[in-house]
Amino acid sequence: MEQSVIIIGAGPAGLTAAYRLCQLGCRVTVLEADPRYVGGISRTEEHDGFRFDIGGHRFYSKSPEIEALWTELCEPEELITRQRSSRIYYRGKFFSYPLRPVEALCGLGLAESMRCGLSYVAARLRPHPEPANFEQWVSNQFGSRLYQIFFKTYTEKVWGMPCTEISADWAAQRIKGLNLYRALVSALFPHKRKGGQIKTLIDSFRYPRLGPGQLWEQCAEKVRAMGGEIHMGQRVAQLSYAADTQSWEVGTEAGQSHSGAHVISTAAIGDLAPMIEPAPSPTVREAAGALSYRDFITVAVMARADQSQPDLSDQWIYIHDPGVQVGRVQNYSAWSPDMVPGAGEMLCYGLEYFCFAREEGLWAMADADLERLAIDELVTLGLLERESVTGAKVVRQRKAYPVYDEHYSQHVATIREELARDYPSLHLVGRNGMHKYNNQDHSMMTALLCAENIAAGETKYDLWQINEDAAYGEAGEADHSVSGLRAVPTRVE
Ligand SMILES: Cc1cc2nc3c(=O)[nH]c(=O)nc-3n(C[C@H](O)[C@H](O)[C@H](O)COP(=O)(O)OP(=O)(O)OC[C@H]3O[C@@H](n4cnc5c(N)ncnc54)[C@H](O)[C@@H]3O)c2cc1C
Repeated sequence: MEQSVIIIGAGPAGLTAAYRLCQLGCRVTVLEADPRYVGGISRTEEHDGFRFDIGGHRFYSKSPEIEALWTELCEPEELITRQRSSRIYYRGKFFSYPLRPVEALCGLGLAESMRCGLSYVAARLRPHPEPANFEQWVSNQFGSRLYQIFFKTYTEKVWGMPCTEISADWAAQRIKGLNLYRALVSALFPHKRKGGQIKTLIDSFRYPRLGPGQLWEQCAEKVRAMGGEIHMGQRVAQLSYAADTQSWEVGTEAGQSHSGAHVISTAAIGDLAPMIEPAPSPTVREAAGALSYRDFITVAVMARADQSQPDLSDQWIYIHDPGVQVGRVQNYSAWSPDMVPGAGEMLCYGLEYFCFAREEGLWAMADADLERLAIDELVTLGLLERESVTGAKVVRQRKAYPVYDEHYSQHVATIREELARDYPSLHLVGRNGMHKYNNQDHSMMTALLCAENIAAGETKYDLWQINEDAAYGEAGEADHSVSGLRAVPTRVE
């Protein structure tokens, strides 16, 4: 029997679900809040012919199914392969990422290297006996000087909390048993890295020639060609469930109303719970209200490429200078020359600022002030001459990162258990839809398996058991329903 499905959001999860459901013969209506762009956080915005992502988006997955789906969704010649290139920038110098200790010490100069060496010796002689926080743990392993230069600033910019409040467990997990001595020995006597490839360090990845949004625009076209409806500029504001007919009525802020047998939501759980009628219990609404998110601003700065500027071949660089607020700089022409009109003569950098909208600060600044800040910081860093700037554009992304605080997993468990029991045809998928700090592949896999469940008329797959590699959890593997996919810092208890 034809199933009618309403999908909230036309990001990777929503569009993947729509695509697969259309293939499976279901009737699909997608409601997207954004008036112009599909792709969600993986969209590509355009300004004066320049195209930019919300952070650069690599297309890389350990799941052959997802890799094959990307190939199916985008014309093959439109998916280019890129060699990863990214470095750390500190006080006018570039350092390899991940750090190569010999190169780092040489790059810092004799006096600074001596200071680093002495502080390392001091840390070995008098380490923090029981390192509880990130600062103590890293200082024990590398000395306080190297910690200040290569760990403190960037970590605090990204996560928005002092390193003294970040639990040492996170450092231990990420940096494993590494310390300066071992890093130096392994740099001087290189041996093959054991184990699998680390996802953040993959050497090459695919990328749509015109940015990730190109792939999602093509996916949307395919959905429409199969009869699926996609309504842009329709923010869902209300979902009413009729238990007797087991059907949904979904209303948008703009006044549209759609009915269906199932709802797939990729909207943030924190936003979804208060929209549901009849209302979930106060416990669930409280848990939804307690979920928190980190927000993200990109300021794209367009400029004439100038001989006096450093020649960046990197797709992105990490900014470790404490004197500026920018955390990372994207270099869009290195992702694909077609992102920048007149690449070679023109360039476009995306300055990334991590913030909390609720704390105002950067988020509350007017666009013109943010543009000025970004240009000033590029000039301060020596990455650009002020005279070469031709334009700028601010792109804001609310709820870019679901926050894993000490209570989040309990809140998510409370919400999903009650929703599954009382609204069995409401399906949570995707990043904020499941409050999972994931990549596109994970979001897409949750959508694919959700579509399979709906078409089969039964829960063949528990979507919470899909792991970081977008693979369905095998028996005996970790319980991914409670794990948070990627490791993120937690506060010191
Ligand atoms: C800085 C950054 C860099 C990243 N880099 C990579 C990378 O290199 N590779 C990678 O694979 N992934 C990357 N990701 C992750 C990737 O962006 C996400 O995994 C992916 O976009 C999640 O897809 P989604 O559909 O689950 O959610 P989203 O992308 O969040 O899409 C949700 C959609 O729902 C819409 N929506 C929300 N609420 C409503 C509502 N009430 N009504 C209607 N519509 C609504 C939104 O407008 C949005 O379009 C990155 C993320 C960030 C923040």
